[in-house]
Amino acid sequence: MIVRCALASGLLASLTLAPGWTMGPPAAATKSPASTTAMSLPAMPAPAASFGAAAVAGRPAPAPQQEPAAVPRAIRRDVPLTNAIRGAMAAGTRDFSGRPGPAYWQLQADYTIAARLDPASQTITGDETIVLHNNSPDELSEIVLRLDHNIFRATVPRGFSVPAETTEGMVVTRLWVDGQAVDLGAPAARGPRRLGVTGLDQTVASISLATPIAPRSTARLEIEWRTKLPGGPDGRGHRMTQRWDDTLFQPTQWYPRIAKYDDLRGWDTSVYLGPAEFYNNFGRFDVRIDVPAGWIVSGTGVLQNPEEVLTAAARERLSRVLDADQITTIVGPDEVGPGRATAPGERLVWHFVADMVNDFAWATAEKFVWQATRATIPGKGPIPIHMVFLPERANLFANAGPISRHALEFYSDLWVPYPFPQLTLQDGPSAGMEYPMVINSNQGAADHEVAHQWWPMMVGTNETWYGWMDEGFDQYMNILSAAHWRDTEPDLDGLGQSYGRISGDESEPPMMWAANYGGPMYGFQTYSKTPLMLSMLGGIVGDQAVQRAIAGYAEAWSFKHPSPWDFVFFMNDALGQDLGWFWYYWLWTTESVDGSIDEAVTSGSRTMVTVRQDGQMPSPVVLEVRFARSGPAIDPLPNARMVDATTAVVTWPVDVWFDGSRTFTAELDFGGRTIERITFDPSRRFPDRDPADNVWPR
Ligand SMILES: [Zn+2]
Repeated sequence: MIVRCALASGLLASLTLAPGWTMGPPAAATKSPASTTAMSLPAMPAPAASFGAAAVAGRPAPAPQQEPAAVPRAIRRDVPLTNAIRGAMAAGTRDFSGRPGPAYWQLQADYTIAARLDPASQTITGDETIVLHNNSPDELSEIVLRLDHNIFRATVPRGFSVPAETTEGMVVTRLWVDGQAVDLGAPAARGPRRLGVTGLDQTVASISLATPIAPRSTARLEIEWRTKLPGGPDGRGHRMTQRWDDTLFQPTQWYPRIAKYDDLRGWDTSVYLGPAEFYNNFGRFDVRIDVPAGWIVSGTGVLQNPEEVLTAAARERLSRVLDADQITTIVGPDEVGPGRATAPGERLVWHFVADMVNDFAWATAEKFVWQATRATIPGKGPIPIHMVFLPERANLFANAGPISRHALEFYSDLWVPYPFPQLTLQDGPSAGMEYPMVINSNQGAADHEVAHQWWPMMVGTNETWYGWMDEGFDQYMNILSAAHWRDTEPDLDGLGQSYGRISGDESEPPMMWAANYGGPMYGFQTYSKTPLMLSMLGGIVGDQAVQRAIAGYAEAWSFKHPSPWDFVFFMNDALGQDLGWFWYYWLWTTESVDGSIDEAVTSGSRTMVTVRQDGQMPSPVVLEVRFARSGPAIDPLPNARMVDATTAVVTWPVDVWFDGSRTFTAELDFGGRTIERITFDPSRRFPDRDPADNVWPR
């Protein structure tokens, strides 16, 4: 999705995103410590008066805390390994190459859904079959279901999202597993294992199985359900308003889904709180959508029965879309109703199939205008871009075709070719949200939402935990795309340095903190920080090298599920450097570099520059040296390159800090030409609280 003002220029704007968590009924009050410890524990020896004041026998009391800058810096050079990634490495599903391991596996979930929309009650009724392919080596004794529409019930936990309407949520009316009916009214199972379900009124439900699903076998779920789409003026947050009255419907996360089961954590039981997004299985979707005749339906996948639901005129217009870049109107604003917008009849069933996707979204309206154009995917050829919107909102789609085409073509060149057979832009109350082959967006967010087709639609990251692997990469590529659109070079200078103004804010969760609980700086953590991190990485290895490495990562993990460790190990491998220190400080901490020049002393032809770093994050030492216009010849230095006749850039690797010193003396000997100015980090890539002290003399 898109969050306004989330780019680096609006870092602090993201602070306004989350006023806090609203919760359902609180958990049972915890007992006071006095009432439990006093009753159940033997008496403890009295603690020493205080650790600060009472010296341990024979040793002096510790000194008070010193200024951090006075303490040698212990620089961590590896990335922390949690139990989840250690387990995956032991099992051979992932490893330090950053590529899928030899034993890598993932579940697949294939959906067949028949859905019927009743505009009068604003309700979808569904009949769904899911075939779950257990490709894991594990016996599965339960199946976890995601029922996202239960966030519209009054009694579930939520983040800062507010539904436009409280509904009865996702109402599961019947459920079978491998032909066995599940008793929906039975209390939670106790004693011997039996078929049962809990949590049907929450966003995460669990089916316990009498017979576990064996490794490398399948299970078949059949579910009947209904859900009302929330409408009204008071929704806040994405996906919280899914219709305009009874005239336009924009269903998302609208059907029961199977949660992810992976090699890192088993079943993903993260609740859906609203802001943070998803982690879904890939699979085949075969979806039939039953709506009143005359209503246009768009969605994920490819329409299978145009001859049954479209007019002959619309089919003829569609047949010419791939011939040229022009916009073709498939159904115009004056073509409304059965026999004019669509085939005639009472109701029509639109049949879509998508072969390998991790979700399915759709939209429908009686008055949709349908336009189409094309994008030419490098190495693949033309595909259609569809746009459906209300006629009075046509101005919001005037440039949507060219912007979407540019995004599809540019990102295909940047990473890997767009993998899907079409792209559709859908008008509606949620503008700025992405699904496979579908973006709920007009031209405003089209570039950003198209970028999501690479992540998470192709590279299936866990957005609930690691939103930065999705929104953060997206923000970075938007900078590149915007520059290409303007026919200029992207400028990533300054972004890395700007993080120094944020570092130290107590509200900031490290990027590895689960995004679902990101708090008031969720927007910064998830959206804005990644471009700053990649700006610094480009300052070390070059922006082109960063982008080539990410392209390789995208290819290696297409239609798979990488973790952050896979990303950092892949990047280390592709860039040929152990950047453990870099990833540690950016992803696991909120530290900065805080570089400065303490002094520069010239003696003869030599100038000794004292560079200082007060932060915990180290960086290479990059000095720009500006010389007088005339004087002795400027001698070459092995670690220097001339950027023009009177300017050199001199670099020392980050290793110079690894002994713990906070100062480094850079020796310059260019043969005696007068040095007029020295600047630390001239491209402004390294996080810095106060860039003014990076220059000498000052
Ligand atoms: Zn987004």
